[in-house]
Amino acid sequence: MIRLVRKQLFSRTAGLSLRPYHHIAVVGTGPSAFYTAKYCLDINDTVHVDFFEKLPTPYGLVRSGVAPDHPEVKTVQETFTQVAESPRVRVFGNVKVVESSTPNSDQNTLSMEELRKSYSAVVLAYGASSDVSLNLPGESMRGVLSSRSFVNWYNGHPDFAHLDETAFDLSKVEHVVIVGQGNVALDCARILSKHPDDLRETDISTQAHKALCRSQVKSITIIGRRGHIQSAFTIKELRELTRMRGVQVLIDSTELELGRTEASMQELENNRPKKRIVDLIEAISLGSNANEESSTGGDDINTVHRTIRIKYLVTPLEIIGDCKTECEGNNDYPEQVKGIKVVRNKLTGVAHKQKAVPVSVDGENSDATEVLPCDLLIKSVGYKCEKLGDSVPFNTQTHTVPQSKGRVVQSVQPDASPVTGLYVTGWLKRGATGIIASNIPDAKETAAAIGEDLRAGVLKDLDNALLVNGGTSDGVAAPQLPWMKSGMGQKVLKSNTVVSWPEYLKIEREEERRGATFTPAKVKDKITSISEMLKVAKE
Ligand code: NAP
Repeated sequence: MIRLVRKQLFSRTAGLSLRPYHHIAVVGTGPSAFYTAKYCLDINDTVHVDFFEKLPTPYGLVRSGVAPDHPEVKTVQETFTQVAESPRVRVFGNVKVVESSTPNSDQNTLSMEELRKSYSAVVLAYGASSDVSLNLPGESMRGVLSSRSFVNWYNGHPDFAHLDETAFDLSKVEHVVIVGQGNVALDCARILSKHPDDLRETDISTQAHKALCRSQVKSITIIGRRGHIQSAFTIKELRELTRMRGVQVLIDSTELELGRTEASMQELENNRPKKRIVDLIEAISLGSNANEESSTGGDDINTVHRTIRIKYLVTPLEIIGDCKTECEGNNDYPEQVKGIKVVRNKLTGVAHKQKAVPVSVDGENSDATEVLPCDLLIKSVGYKCEKLGDSVPFNTQTHTVPQSKGRVVQSVQPDASPVTGLYVTGWLKRGATGIIASNIPDAKETAAAIGEDLRAGVLKDLDNALLVNGGTSDGVAAPQLPWMKSGMGQKVLKSNTVVSWPEYLKIEREEERRGATFTPAKVKDKITSISEMLKVAKE
């Protein structure tokens, strides 16, 4: 109540300097973070935003997730740049937000507690940093990796950039199996099978492109546990597979027949987009569109160099390794994957809730199982968010932060009360689903909750004097918030390793400059080492 009266007094006062001011910390700089910041800035001009990003570079999945041959998707960065360049926004790159700060850490860390004390509100937008597991022995074998690792690798994420030196060698890989049939699985299949010349001018990591040039991949099998009507990919991504030169897509029509259960046919009713996907799948199975629209042309347009087989109604049972050579008695050489044993499934259950059930328990009926040979196995069965620490509620079933309209709530109970000043957005809020644009309504909802709470006086008003005090001795523009004066804050700011927005732009310009030196020119030659990024940023 007192807060409300104070607020009304402020709003009746003509002088700007007497207005309250609100500062929001956003943890992460992916699409959900930027969209939420954008809508928070629209609340009113008392709102300021500080971003915290653990890498020196921003944009999350737009930089490290979107496939390099989908540049049109990356144009969203222009909107995000406008947000970052607002005078009410600061970016603290190369700073990791953790449960409790660790003074001895080499990394720049700030604790949630410090942020909660310093800001009017904290928005968690750090996305998914882990993978759904297949829960099969052998997942740690050489040549077995998650699609998240593979995608980060070809996109030059510093933590994954050298994966081809440690986890797989495409010059020795002939057969690939990808488990899962979402768009990420199709992205991996497309990058692995595309002619390397058709990736040359993109911003693909230069190291990954060199590895793809040496690739011996001949076949890629994308396996799904359910039927074709339950495929999780979208039509654009499927069509793209059929339009690559030298690549043939194969689908077995008998598997489609098994998937046409009564419940599956009901799933198609009144679902025009799904029917169009199913029509394309059926056309592919009849061989009517293989290579029909190769977009890039070239001498070898009609010669099939690689096949992509989309295989339905099978579940992985066992990852099979080969330990005959390097690995025996030597832990430095884990077993190399050689295949995956799968069991045939049937669909049971009602429409939209059909489950895949193995036709043979534990694969004991050998007719129902088969081994798909592979030298590289990519698990693409979904991304998973990680808990930040015990002070932030977390739903261990859904791997999301429990929330109501973007307000973090104390627990997963339906009547749980909100945690004042703590919000969530993006994959951490709704799970790892949806395209970049799905973040727009999601971010609007979270920003609306912040706006309501701000107007209701729930959020901390900060001292407006902070805004006019100029920069700090560390060169950070005002306002100087409490965390900046704390021990950890001082350590972080004095380390000369925090990357501001103008410093990030130096990294980007350098990547573009290096890209231009290639023939033909690359959009960017991404810097994949953090120390090199920092060198460029601080030059
Ligand atoms: P996804 O779309 O949820 O697909 C996951 C796939 O894994 C499904 O086929 C699922 O089958 C299967 N799966 C899950 N658990 C499994 C298990 N234990 N064993 C076997 N199969 C299993 O996930 P995603 O491909 O990681 O994509 C994440 C989100 O990003 C999606 O919303 C996607 O559309 C989006 N995305 C979009 C684009 C684009 O627009 N180009 C690109 C990349 C990602 P069931 O259906 O049987 O569960």
